[in-house]
Amino acid sequence: MIDDKEERNSADEQKKDEPPRHGADLLKDLMDKLGGIPLGSIRLDPGEAEQYGAAEEKESQIDPLDLIKKFSFKPREIRDYLDRYVISQSEAKKVLATAVRDHYDHVIRCLEAPEDAKRDFAKANVLMMGPTGVGKTYLMRCIARLIGVPFVKADATKFSETGYVGYDVEDIIRDLVKAADGDAKLAQFGIVYIDEVDKLASSATDGHKDVSGRGVQVNLLKLLEDSDVRLIAQNDMMGQMQAMMNYQRHGSRPPTTISTKFILFIVSGAFSKLDAIVKRRIGSTVIGFHGTEGAEVFEERVEEDAALLKHVQTSDLVNYGFEPEFVGRFPVRVALDELGEPELEKILTTAENGVWEQYVETMAGYDIALSAERDALKHIAADAVKEKTGARGLLTVLERFFRDFKFELPGTGITELKLTSEMLSKPKEALDKLLASNREEAERLAYGEVAAFSERFREQTGFGLEFSHEAALKLVALAQQADKTVRGYCESQFKDFEYGLKLIAKAHPEKTSFQLEAADVEAPQQVLTKWIKESYEGN
Ligand code: ADP
Repeated sequence: MIDDKEERNSADEQKKDEPPRHGADLLKDLMDKLGGIPLGSIRLDPGEAEQYGAAEEKESQIDPLDLIKKFSFKPREIRDYLDRYVISQSEAKKVLATAVRDHYDHVIRCLEAPEDAKRDFAKANVLMMGPTGVGKTYLMRCIARLIGVPFVKADATKFSETGYVGYDVEDIIRDLVKAADGDAKLAQFGIVYIDEVDKLASSATDGHKDVSGRGVQVNLLKLLEDSDVRLIAQNDMMGQMQAMMNYQRHGSRPPTTISTKFILFIVSGAFSKLDAIVKRRIGSTVIGFHGTEGAEVFEERVEEDAALLKHVQTSDLVNYGFEPEFVGRFPVRVALDELGEPELEKILTTAENGVWEQYVETMAGYDIALSAERDALKHIAADAVKEKTGARGLLTVLERFFRDFKFELPGTGITELKLTSEMLSKPKEALDKLLASNREEAERLAYGEVAAFSERFREQTGFGLEFSHEAALKLVALAQQADKTVRGYCESQFKDFEYGLKLIAKAHPEKTSFQLEAADVEAPQQVLTKWIKESYEGN
């Protein structure tokens, strides 16, 4: 790390002599200084990183780097942890658990003995292949949470080659710092996840040479190795000014770059059509070894095996349109399985913090205890399979079904909802039936809402607005007819009453309470006008 003590001292001295500067002066100063400050001159090594944070972060009790150092899970234990949240994908769990253990073993070694960081180490960056919604991102998020490191995800398709327009590959590293709440030293050990990386391959453009995809691969290559990324982008003037202000105010300069040396990179994609390349290669290998007959036998076996991506080799990825150097940086490769109906059902029934659990919580927030018959969950899983979006399909199906339930049920007094397969087949009928069976209770609550409106009106305006029993019943019926809640209906019908009653009170200050009958609530505006007239005629 470059020692900036000298610069700091001279900045302090300068500050003592100068009067405080404001507005345009300060801005001009900052702009002048922007040219002079060697951004990118400080970088953090693991040992130094700890030193650096020490002064500023004395208050924070736990040093996040200590948490990383204490990460002691063995691969099988990581797998067990993942099993709680992620269903199926046993191969991916195994591969990831091992890769992550290897990577953080190396990180821990380097944190404890910074000279080790100078040695070459081939990072276990991971390439994940598989359809959408099968848990690729989720697995990595769970792992990042287990270790206590920041995690960011970006789509490769949004990277621009030049970085002048759009999203630069380096922006993802800056996002990692944001994900670490601005803690640059922690971000150095985070996990970066880049999805849709298959779109960077030239085959993704159907034969047209895709220059931009190749360019992004090259830019990414730099990050995958040990490179220093500016914490504030060159074109981020606001960020640079902010940094300068902090510099002026505190006299010390925070680190301006972070190294990507210890960041773990995961790339993923669906890699459609890659299976055909693998199939062709496997076929030709078999022909080479066993002649045509052998090839037929192998073809059959491969036909049965939907998971051709499990056999992917570097040459397949190069044929697919990746730069060999790029592919070479991802030594750990794993293909994820499709999720069928049994797996989706299991996600609903056993995954911790899964979609179903979230629905139960949401409904509990409306004081409704949600449960489901086993058949109903099976039904949801079967519908979700048709969506062809993996576990995301579950959410789609649930949202579609629950949309009206979540809208209609709160406030009706319904406290239980037990899903059956039949309800899922006919959601509208199911909802109507439920509401009909609860009509009396709903009306009782709506009646109470009239009193609640009256109470709020008194609190807000100081005037009593009382409704007779018949008037309250009438309001409930009118609100129902208008398809409004009692609260919404009353608030719109009596919106002018505060103003009107104040007018009346001017003529008759003793009048603070007003009574409405059933006939009155049918035409409240007319009643109010009549009251105002009468109060002034009497005078
Ligand atoms: P992708 O494979 O496209 O990265 P995600 O991992 O983002 O998909 O999955 C989307 C959501 O679906 C996750 O947040 C998680 O709730 C759920 N999910 C996906 N796969 C699984 C799985 N195997 N087990 C449990 N939940 C899953």
